[in-house]
Amino acid sequence: MSAAPESSVYVAHLPVGDDDIGKHRGAPAFSIDDLCGMLAHYLEPDQVDQIRRAYLFGAEAHQGQQRLSGEPYISHPLAVARILAEMHLDHHSIMAALLHDVIEDTGTIKEHLATEFGDEVAELVDGVSKLTQIKFQTKAEAQAENFRKMLMAMTRDIRVILVKLADRLHNMRTLEPMAPDKRRRIARETLDIYVPIAHRLGLNTLRLELEELGFAALYPMRYRVLAEAVRKARGNRKEVLQKIKLAIEGRLAQEGLTGRILGREKHLYSVYQKMRGKHVSFSEVFDVYAFRIIVDKVDTCYRALGVVHGLYKPVPGKFKDYIAISKSNGYQAIHTVLFGPYGVPIEVQIRTEDMNKVAEAGIAAHWLYKAGDKSGGAHVRAREWLREVLEMQKNAGNSLEFIENVKIDLFPDEVYVFTPKGKIMQLVRGATGVDFAYAVHTDVGNSCVAIKIDRHLAPLSTALSNGQTVEVITAAGAKPNPSWLNFVVTGKARANIRNYLKNLKSEEAISLGQRLLDKALAEASLSIAKLPQERVMTLLKDFKFKNLEGLYEDIGLGNRMATLVAHRLIPDDDVESERGRSGIKDVLTRYVPAWLKGGERSASQPLLIKGTEGMVVTFAKCCHPIPGDQILGFVSAGRGIVIHSEECKNVADFRSRPEKWIDVQWAQEISGEFPVEVRVDVVNKRGALATVAAAIAEMGANIDNLQLEERDGKYSTLTIVIEVRDRVHLAKIMRRIRSLDIVARINRTKG
Ligand code: MN
Repeated sequence: MSAAPESSVYVAHLPVGDDDIGKHRGAPAFSIDDLCGMLAHYLEPDQVDQIRRAYLFGAEAHQGQQRLSGEPYISHPLAVARILAEMHLDHHSIMAALLHDVIEDTGTIKEHLATEFGDEVAELVDGVSKLTQIKFQTKAEAQAENFRKMLMAMTRDIRVILVKLADRLHNMRTLEPMAPDKRRRIARETLDIYVPIAHRLGLNTLRLELEELGFAALYPMRYRVLAEAVRKARGNRKEVLQKIKLAIEGRLAQEGLTGRILGREKHLYSVYQKMRGKHVSFSEVFDVYAFRIIVDKVDTCYRALGVVHGLYKPVPGKFKDYIAISKSNGYQAIHTVLFGPYGVPIEVQIRTEDMNKVAEAGIAAHWLYKAGDKSGGAHVRAREWLREVLEMQKNAGNSLEFIENVKIDLFPDEVYVFTPKGKIMQLVRGATGVDFAYAVHTDVGNSCVAIKIDRHLAPLSTALSNGQTVEVITAAGAKPNPSWLNFVVTGKARANIRNYLKNLKSEEAISLGQRLLDKALAEASLSIAKLPQERVMTLLKDFKFKNLEGLYEDIGLGNRMATLVAHRLIPDDDVESERGRSGIKDVLTRYVPAWLKGGERSASQPLLIKGTEGMVVTFAKCCHPIPGDQILGFVSAGRGIVIHSEECKNVADFRSRPEKWIDVQWAQEISGEFPVEVRVDVVNKRGALATVAAAIAEMGANIDNLQLEERDGKYSTLTIVIEVRDRVHLAKIMRRIRSLDIVARINRTKG
């Protein structure tokens, strides 16, 4: 049994005193030759050559630039490469580390890097640059979580994160020359964002250093006080620690077990967090002796456990076997707590060398840590991925070499974007501008008209990508468009649009129903206001309506005829006095348009169509009536009124159901555009379609639908639905199209 040095778990660059944070006093400058020397241990000579070439390229690109410390800038990428070399990363990652700031800081373009060093390196550098460009802005915890996820989601290749983490680590080591407020901001960001990422990826050595550096920079006073307390406590403990260690070592050797024992010391940041989180004193946190026993194989772990339990009495309820049942993040070890010689508890972790590797540097070994709140796709895939990672780690001699080709999509179902104020919104993948608007607020969704993506105007249907800043442009009076339902992907947007349309249709139906009933009553020189109220109330009760709106809505939707309702409302004596004893039939025929009966139009006022009635007045697709055409309306249950052209062949149907037809007429002022169908015979010729389409657009009309049918070798027929204002507009368009030399004939189709 060999005695291992104390606290050997963590040695790299830890600030040990209170006055040397972030400094490397007396350290000789690290050169590219030193790096290549390190790399030669695990990379091929030609790979090392490529890395040297990347270094030269980077050094030239950063020529003349300096770090705040006064060193040439290239010393930073070199140091980042060194951190990754210590992790034994592949040559592409090391090259990317050496080049990681050239896009951001020297204006080198990605394509240039691809030509020089291949697509893989260019992609890595580009990925790191994109992460660098995103600025973390708010402090809220949920936002930090989303930000971390966004960083991960933007990363298709886990190596991008590793380069970024190494970059951050070196920046943290060299914070000293920065202004205090900037130092604090970077430290805060490191603790909030990068530490949890490193933690999830199982990069514990790197994480611990980031934590200690972050803590020291963010709370220099607290760090100093704690460091002093630890220094004092350590002096008192040394002897006891050594005594316990020797006792365990002796007993293990006695049993013929091989392994090493490490004394563990709690890191300042974790001491600080425990004191804060659990409100306990320094001595309660710190007065625990902690050891780690690392052995050759699993079997030895259990035998070592027997040994320590024989040596000191175990504390009941503290034993945990994470070997038999590993933590969901892949962590494996046996944990136990013993009653120490002076009444001080001794924490012992027992694990194999392999388990130790995973626990300290095993990438993504902690991936699912605290991710138990999610279920479904990403979670399952992440777990699956983790399982494979662990399998590979088990088989690979070098625990990190497997990541060379690991390309992953960590959050395949989510997309993260910023609001203009820097808040991060999480949406499902494929979410559009409208989805975003509804995610911000229902009112914003209901009144959105356009979006700006990274300050550029974009259509509402644009699918959003990770990291974009999205601004919604709203307009007072704007309304949701039914066509949005064709592209929105979030449930919230869909539900809100549907709900709005339902309410809208109901409002429009009420308004139309009121107009229809008013018109019907006006035939008898009456109005709702003039009628005895109890008569109205009786009718509402008979028809089971809560109020007049309910009745109007039912009429507007076409479920109930206004004329019949009017008849019920008109007092009997009125009917009798005015129309004699002719009864309902006469009343009904009176309201049927006179011209339908073969005579002149009746003197009664037809319903005026303004184009603003909304969903309860629609225009028949068989005949496409437009303003200027003679029209009449067909009352359709649930749909309101469908407007047909008088010339439509379906109008012949009226004789069988005259009560369903209603006299309508275009209003004086009409708004909107109306679809109309034209057939154009064109010469078969390249570009004929485009020429016709261009002519229509030139005349200020939209093409709604277009079909091309080849008739014979010489001609084709285009059936086009265009949106026009009225007959005059249509006539102008037809004249324009007819004038084209490729057009043989054009006419409007009317069902
Ligand atoms: Mn950098």
